[in-house]
Amino acid sequence: MIRFTSRRSLPVSERVPVLMYHRIACRPPGTTVPMHYVAPKRFENHVKVMGRLGFESTTLIRAFQEIDKPGKRVVFTFDDGYGNFLAAARILESSGMVGTVFVVTGQVGGVNEWDMGQGDVREPLLTQEEILALVARGHEIGSHTVSHARLTEVSEEEARRELEDSRRALAHLLGNPPASFCYPYGAHDSKVRGLVAEVGYSVACGTEKGWNDRWTDRTRWRRVNVRGDTTTPVLFWKLWNKSRSRATEA
Ligand SMILES: [Zn+2]
Repeated sequence: MIRFTSRRSLPVSERVPVLMYHRIACRPPGTTVPMHYVAPKRFENHVKVMGRLGFESTTLIRAFQEIDKPGKRVVFTFDDGYGNFLAAARILESSGMVGTVFVVTGQVGGVNEWDMGQGDVREPLLTQEEILALVARGHEIGSHTVSHARLTEVSEEEARRELEDSRRALAHLLGNPPASFCYPYGAHDSKVRGLVAEVGYSVACGTEKGWNDRWTDRTRWRRVNVRGDTTTPVLFWKLWNKSRSRATEA
């Protein structure tokens, strides 16, 4: 029997939501990005509810490579490589889950200078040793450029350098070049996306909303934004609301 499957009727098993987090910590006074903080207890509830809904967690690169494989998968991503990802990692691991962290390679072991320049509080970033330990525990490390550059506002030469040098730095640290990339500020255009593919990244995401399937452009995978005020019911609503946004509807 021939069964025709339209894009509209793809089951959940062939579509993947990618959740976007920044900082897993209680919100400190004085931050300019209060909604970037998701309290650890709230994050733990998110992880538990995804487990109860039957989702297995995977890394971004595996989700991309296995997009046609049967199963119900979710990707937890964390932008910027904050030291407080260590708390998130423990919570994920206690449910048998993993995360994908996008690090700013010029600031590994340093602080979020790009945020502080805009008046934000100081947040320590993961060190080389912590990154190596996380990879050994199954988490994925991707690139978020060398300096958290807004790639659409720098020269092509500089954008290429941000993409290549961060890739080289992670290859040197991890033994393999990173396969995943995340656009700082979600800023990309066709030229930047072309460079990302040319430099050798397999999959890249920004802040465009929606789920992903086999037709999603690999240089603009979509995500579901999780904020400090995203309670578990709100997460559930966002997931299913965004599941209707498709790659062709950009
Ligand atoms: Zn960022």
